[in-house]
Amino acid sequence: MTCIFCSIARGETHSYIIYEDELNMVFLDIYPVSKGHLLVIPREHYESIHDTPYKLLARTWFLSSILGRIYRVEFDAPGVNIVTNSGGAAGQVIFHFHVHVIPRWGRYGGFWSGRHRLTEDEAREVIDMWRDKTGIIIDALNNI
Ligand SMILES: [Zn+2]
Repeated sequence: MTCIFCSIARGETHSYIIYEDELNMVFLDIYPVSKGHLLVIPREHYESIHDTPYKLLARTWFLSSILGRIYRVEFDAPGVNIVTNSGGAAGQVIFHFHVHVIPRWGRYGGFWSGRHRLTEDEAREVIDMWRDKTGIIIDALNNI
């Protein structure tokens, strides 16, 4: 059985990458809820929070929080959701642990409302937004 996120982590499936290092990758959700909807994954395959080793779990959540904080502080997003779905009963669809980082730019309209197919233009815009933020991410990761 092939895992789409493992394939993305290996570089075999295209994704719009925002950030990556030896442990994690951050790329755009192709069905974003809002502009800038990110997915944070460990490169290694684990199903969800229940089987991801603690250190990797902590690092993935910390990285997700850094990204959420950058949306709040650097991009002035009025809100951000940082969430994972663990198990089919919770709405998990891709069984490779991932955290959603969803900036909220306006009035709250229901959790998954606004979901649409990512366009090339939108992807380019978000990549441009994040282009000079890598230093902030690395500084934060090195400060824990
Ligand atoms: Zn996988």
